[in-house]
Amino acid sequence: MSTSAHPSSSAVRTGGTVTDRLVEANQRYAAEFTNSGMDARPALQVAVVACMDARLDPHAALGLKLGDCHTIRNAGGVVTDDVIRSLTISQRALGTRSVVLVHHTGCGLESLTEDFRHELEQEVGQRPSWAVEAFRDVDQDVRQSMQRVRTSPFLPHTDDVRGFVFDVKTGLLREIDPTS
Ligand SMILES: [Zn+2]
Repeated sequence: MSTSAHPSSSAVRTGGTVTDRLVEANQRYAAEFTNSGMDARPALQVAVVACMDARLDPHAALGLKLGDCHTIRNAGGVVTDDVIRSLTISQRALGTRSVVLVHHTGCGLESLTEDFRHELEQEVGQRPSWAVEAFRDVDQDVRQSMQRVRTSPFLPHTDDVRGFVFDVKTGLLREIDPTS
């Protein structure tokens, strides 16, 4: 992407790319870093599946600390085959038992439709193998995600699966009743 597309970004103002700034930040992080000696198995035996939205910080929003959980994120926090892959490894190889799904208000997927795929196909001459997973009703999307986790044949632990909508304006979670 051309930097001229974002003339106001601080990366442009300070020189260097945004990744250069991240690498510098990592050097400061590593200078203060101490090896926790933690196990790779999440301490709270929980996996969080959340949207990639920049306004959602799952660790802060749920009071989670380093080492507590697995965090699996994608556009929408949708339970795709790849999320099932991660959850399967999380449960079978790394000991998690609970699944928390976090979608949120004002999600970018609410403004898309499956037309996105067709337009993409028109533009590049190839149809993507994945669905956009756009939605109109965030509550219903959380219910569908819970259902996909609960019915997966690969997951041994599906009794503690709960779904929420995070309000980006208040920071509060609202739990979704899977049956309503
Ligand atoms: Zn989102």
